[in-house]
Amino acid sequence: MKEAKVKKKKKLYEGKAKIVYETDNEDIYIQEFKDDATAFDGQKKGKIKNKGTVNNQMSGHLFNYLENYHVPTHFVGQQADNAMAIHKLEMIPVEVVMRNIATGSLVKRYGVEDGKELEHPILEFYLKDDEKHDPMINEDHVVSFGHANEDEIKLIKRYAQKINAVLKSFFFRRDMLLVDFKLEFGRSKSGRIKLGDEISPDTCRLWDVESGEKLDKDRFRQDLGKVEEAYQEVLKRVYK
Ligand code: UDP
Repeated sequence: MKEAKVKKKKKLYEGKAKIVYETDNEDIYIQEFKDDATAFDGQKKGKIKNKGTVNNQMSGHLFNYLENYHVPTHFVGQQADNAMAIHKLEMIPVEVVMRNIATGSLVKRYGVEDGKELEHPILEFYLKDDEKHDPMINEDHVVSFGHANEDEIKLIKRYAQKINAVLKSFFFRRDMLLVDFKLEFGRSKSGRIKLGDEISPDTCRLWDVESGEKLDKDRFRQDLGKVEEAYQEVLKRVYK
């Protein structure tokens, strides 16, 4: 795995699951993954042992993998077990959700049968705003609110669809169904759209192909037990 040689400097901000630091290189940040877990807009709080390490290593592996498919990402290299160096991005405050199987909020909102394979993947946009409970928005909201222009949205959608196709088969070869996941994009210094944030069991729903067992954050959300074990199992399979 690529390793980055930058020095960690001042803490820039701390979110629910990650901390971002400045480095001695002004174009590079470090994102450190915490073991803290939250759900339901931060109402449920807990810790998942070694989650930070799993999410960092899995994200690094997948960013690297996606770069091979010409999806630009913010990944620079690994910096510690639970931290990676990333290109500084101006983040677009929109969550891009891709779905292959109906579950979660899709079932609640539309009454589709839980676990039903979707005829066509569904792409959704949500405004990143915890206070407003991340309301669902469409492309016109994104443009009208000035978060991205039409060309950027086109590119984001194309990347999201490609990432879905690539990762769906990546996980299937490792006996997991990629049910749905969330992506965040940003702009690099040169104005290029790149994938940011993370790709981990915190942001993807992954079900075991054989047993249907949930191997992601839903184990924490729904108090299913064996949460740590599920995260470890996903990382083990990702490395296969
Ligand atoms: N997701 C996420 N962060 C969010 C909301 C959703 O990572 O703030 C992910 C979630 O893990 C799932 C997918 O996006 O893989 C779709 O989530 P959904 O809309 O079903 O919401 P939920 O049921 O998690 O509230």
